[in-house]
Amino acid sequence: MAKLRAMLIAVFVTAAACLAVFLIVYLSGGLESIDETKEAKSTTAAPTKPVETTTEEAKSEEWAAEIAEADRLAAMYDYDAAIALIQTIPGYDRSVKLTQAIGGYASARDTCVKWADNTKIPHIFFHTLVVDTELAFDGDEDSDNYNQVMTTVSEFNEILTEMYERGFVLVSIYDIASLQETEEGVKMKQNAIMLPPGKKPFILSQDDVSYYAYMTGDGYAQKLVIGEGGKVVNEYVNRDGSVSYGSYDMIPLLDDFIDEHPDFSYRGAKGIIALTGYEGVLGYRTSEYSYGANSTQNKDFKYVNPDIESDRAEAKKVADALKADGWLFACHGWGHRGMGKNQSYENFEKDIDLWYDEVIPIIGPCDILIYPKGDDIGTWRMYTDTAEGHQYPETLAKYEHADSLGFKYYCNVDSSEYWTQIGAQYVRTGRRNIDGTRLFEAVCGYRDLLSDLIDAKKVWDSARPQPVKGVPVPEGYVID
Ligand SMILES: [Zn+2]
Repeated sequence: MAKLRAMLIAVFVTAAACLAVFLIVYLSGGLESIDETKEAKSTTAAPTKPVETTTEEAKSEEWAAEIAEADRLAAMYDYDAAIALIQTIPGYDRSVKLTQAIGGYASARDTCVKWADNTKIPHIFFHTLVVDTELAFDGDEDSDNYNQVMTTVSEFNEILTEMYERGFVLVSIYDIASLQETEEGVKMKQNAIMLPPGKKPFILSQDDVSYYAYMTGDGYAQKLVIGEGGKVVNEYVNRDGSVSYGSYDMIPLLDDFIDEHPDFSYRGAKGIIALTGYEGVLGYRTSEYSYGANSTQNKDFKYVNPDIESDRAEAKKVADALKADGWLFACHGWGHRGMGKNQSYENFEKDIDLWYDEVIPIIGPCDILIYPKGDDIGTWRMYTDTAEGHQYPETLAKYEHADSLGFKYYCNVDSSEYWTQIGAQYVRTGRRNIDGTRLFEAVCGYRDLLSDLIDAKKVWDSARPQPVKGVPVPEGYVID
């Protein structure tokens, strides 16, 4: 009985102290500036617990940035990083709001399931996107090729929306597998991709991000630059000659989409940017071989670039910003020459070495090789499987040279839903083109190789000329 009375008194005293402290704080207008250290000094006699509610509200404002960032990390399925971020806030374990946030992230994490087989992940790719369809498809000598292998900005945006609505989530090629210490030494091993049920991983790349000279005036962006706030944007020249900066190609468009839909990217993954070398990279004429003072190539590429050094420095800044934002780089050959059975080892080595010498100083270490024209150095068998008739004559030599330069991820072109091979020391994926050819094939009724990813009819840009050259058109086809 005496114990109960003591407890009641304690509760009463606590409540009274709480009210007193609240009034002091309220009347002194100190709600915004209150923090735990100050409060401890000014109310030495008062118990701290009841004050916490007031403090919690005040703190919420202060924590807004951390909470928003943790929410973004959790939306990208990186629940552990979200929890770790909240745990950097001093006294997080005494806050109801913060412990609830941690609990929410942990329970969302616990609903995730491991993607069953990382060899079953589609890899899609694009070329430079068409901004101005009238200029690209104006009937000049490049029009047919653009109509076949390019995708328009409106189509690309529709594709992202369609894939997002179908539950696709962009993952990194490194999520498939990476070199890891195992009992049999360092080997490629699948990584656990943990996604909510119903979500499906895919990989994305873009080829020839060079903004080649032949495309000038045809309605494409012409380079990547660092824009406001450090965001990488495109430079685009309008028909009247004025210059605009913004999202005119895949990289900034995907960045915009992920800013708006962070749950489209697994732990911050972005795409792979495949670079050739002969006209430089990212819209900068950085190749010594083509644009240097001693170039023997000038008759083809028109000029010696007197700004080659500053262009290299600019390209490097853009590359650094892209890498910091999750983008990866790949080698796409220096001269965009095939690397397969019709290419000699000598030419292959010369080409890839020149790429390495000119491009690595700009982009840093690179372990992804995206074959120009999809022309693989080997057959579908393991590169190391050199039994009689299993490979092209120089597959192993080419593989060993590429491996010695650091390449561990190899990508060809393949129209199956997915094709991935995990070797002891490398990963190889087949990539699928979503371009004018594939879209037109589907909309005209010839065949649909995209139905698992998108509804081609929703995506098709009616500004394209028809038929797309090379697609066998069914009798009396109609596109509405
Ligand atoms: Zn290419």
